[in-house]
Amino acid sequence: MNLIGLNRDALTSILTGMDEKPFRVKQLWHWIYFQGATDFGAMTTLSKTLRAKLSDAGHTLKRPVVVREQNAADRTRKWLLRFDDGTEIETVYIPEDDRGAVCVSTQAGCPNACAFCRTGSMKFRRNLTAGEIVAQFMAARDSYGEWPSPSLEPRYLSNVVVMGMGEPLLNYEATRDALKIITDPEGIALSKRRVTLSTSGVAPVIPRVAEDLDVKLAVSLHAPTDEVRDKIMPINRKYPLKELMAACRKFQDIAGTRNYITMEYVMLDGVNDSEADARELMRLVKGLAVKFNLIPFNEWTGCPFKCSPTGRIVKFSKILENAHYAAPVRVSRGQEIMAACGQLKAAADN
Ligand code: SF4
Repeated sequence: MNLIGLNRDALTSILTGMDEKPFRVKQLWHWIYFQGATDFGAMTTLSKTLRAKLSDAGHTLKRPVVVREQNAADRTRKWLLRFDDGTEIETVYIPEDDRGAVCVSTQAGCPNACAFCRTGSMKFRRNLTAGEIVAQFMAARDSYGEWPSPSLEPRYLSNVVVMGMGEPLLNYEATRDALKIITDPEGIALSKRRVTLSTSGVAPVIPRVAEDLDVKLAVSLHAPTDEVRDKIMPINRKYPLKELMAACRKFQDIAGTRNYITMEYVMLDGVNDSEADARELMRLVKGLAVKFNLIPFNEWTGCPFKCSPTGRIVKFSKILENAHYAAPVRVSRGQEIMAACGQLKAAADN
């Protein structure tokens, strides 16, 4: 069994099954998630007998295979990763000067099929396990050699954004378990404030994110009305805006209004980018503590949409900012290696 992705309880039952004392789990956890060990032989604080027992039982600490690594001129790095059953997904690292975010996938493909998203155009394969989600972050750390978990800033891999392939709230349990491991202070130890989970709007699950995880929430909103949203995001027909906004309110009732929700908004030429759309958007989010993130659409072959002209994006942003909302225009990263927002798709589907 691959031990990556197992929580303390699961590791404890493996150890007790080997007649080992449960307290050993602390040491094992430290080696797996704090030191990033890739084989049991390196775990020098464990007895030789226990190390042998773990490998003799066939346990591993295997990372996914890096099928391809691409680097963009802006230092964005993208990996095509393959799991044991041949399933392939993409993971992206987006660096800033003294920090950076790893964008992890939660599904291979995505059943949501948003009209502007390249992932949505590929066949949905399956949900990823908690281990496969955690392993993406660990593989990224391997790539930069950022082990053991740095206790001081700067950390290059300082943030996680759950914005890669898939809808995390359609694979909630695995996503939750993975984020609990990633934020455990004795392991990978990422601050919860540096984790953002992004959903396309699986309304009934949104409040659970506040209850279980205490991480930041982003909502891929992308339209101010059901009429437009129904057309570009099929999930809206199941959970229309009224339901989605009610779920966001519940999230904030639990998480507090200091926990701003980021409303992601992709700028699509002639679809959702008029002045009237901006005003409708503000009506929609009234009463919620939100900020906007305006994303110039990253075009891809086969997609019918075009990016809004820059002038219109700036005007849209100004309308929101004049009403005291933060509404920065996101700088696109890693476009030439198809690593930008909405561009991920596994090679097997190219
Ligand atoms: S935008 Fe997100 S939810 Fe929509 S198809 Fe793409 S990955 Fe799925």
